[in-house]
Amino acid sequence: MKIVITDLDQDRITEEQAVADAAGIELVLAQARTEDEVIEAARGAEALLVQYAPITRRVLEALPAVRAVGRYGVGVDTLDVEAATELGVAVSNVPDYGTEDVSDHAIALAVSLSRGVVELDRNLRAGTTSLTPVKPLHRIRTRTFGVIGLGRIGAATARKARALGFAVHGYDPMREPGTTTEDGIAVRTQDEVLAGSDVISLHVPLTEQTHHLITTGTLARMRPGAMLVNTSRGGVVDTAAVVEALRSGHLRGAGLDVFETEPLPQDSPLRDCPTAVLTPHASWYSEESETELKRRVIENVVEVLAG
Ligand code: NAD
Repeated sequence: MKIVITDLDQDRITEEQAVADAAGIELVLAQARTEDEVIEAARGAEALLVQYAPITRRVLEALPAVRAVGRYGVGVDTLDVEAATELGVAVSNVPDYGTEDVSDHAIALAVSLSRGVVELDRNLRAGTTSLTPVKPLHRIRTRTFGVIGLGRIGAATARKARALGFAVHGYDPMREPGTTTEDGIAVRTQDEVLAGSDVISLHVPLTEQTHHLITTGTLARMRPGAMLVNTSRGGVVDTAAVVEALRSGHLRGAGLDVFETEPLPQDSPLRDCPTAVLTPHASWYSEESETELKRRVIENVVEVLAG
């Protein structure tokens, strides 16, 4: 049996190779990007592992031996899932490999904003050690942390924020305001969380309902001096509105890992906002998450091939 990795943004496949070897399956790394390249590279393969390559109906029809497709990561938007289902091809993803890492990152952004770490570092390197230009920082134990989206990552972030001393509450349309979660986090309405938090951390999927959830109107409902953290999806936030709120000081700071356009454009006004802390969609990234992702993506398809 043969599994073809259609494409991967690196050439390290030690984890995948170990699982393939244990199952007695041949593994080939192709680095194909187009439909034709995938079809050419994957002839005779029983399964594909895919990062960004297009797995369309045409590709699947041209590769009748393929019985399983595994996606590196969460999203399956480069895969025609409907066609796969019709053709009897099992599709799998790895939805939760980065829960710990993304929640760690959200906390790292919140803490570096609360303590001005990046701003102070930037000033110091530029020769300024005076605290006069730095607005007073936050003592975490007196502050409230609001989580929008209490799913896997939101719940983990809430637990970690509470452990640091924040008072924590959250909003999720799947939960009744006035109740508490199984972790003891108070559930409130979205407006209560917006108006009652010093840090708001976003953990929602990008959907029609969550597109531009944070805009001029929602920012106005937030406390003056609040901080915004976004490790979910860039489109959840109206960038222009956030830039405006940072400039006016209504937002004390913003920690952003995801952007409406990625990579973040060179001329993005966010780059000129000194109270923004920016990371390049790196929340998921760790030695442990990468290892887990690679192992699980191939285990998923090996399980299908083993019947
Ligand atoms: P999840 O499905 O476990 O949780 C999402 C939660 O959001 C659910 O509880 C859902 O009910 C809630 N929700 C939906 N619409 C909402 C709304 N309008 N307001 C408030 N809550 C709403 O997902 P997850 O695994 O926790 O992932 C959360 C986000 O993190 C996703 O956007 C995902 O794409 C993103 N993510 C980012 C990275 C990164 O590297 N930056 C890595 C992995 C995931």
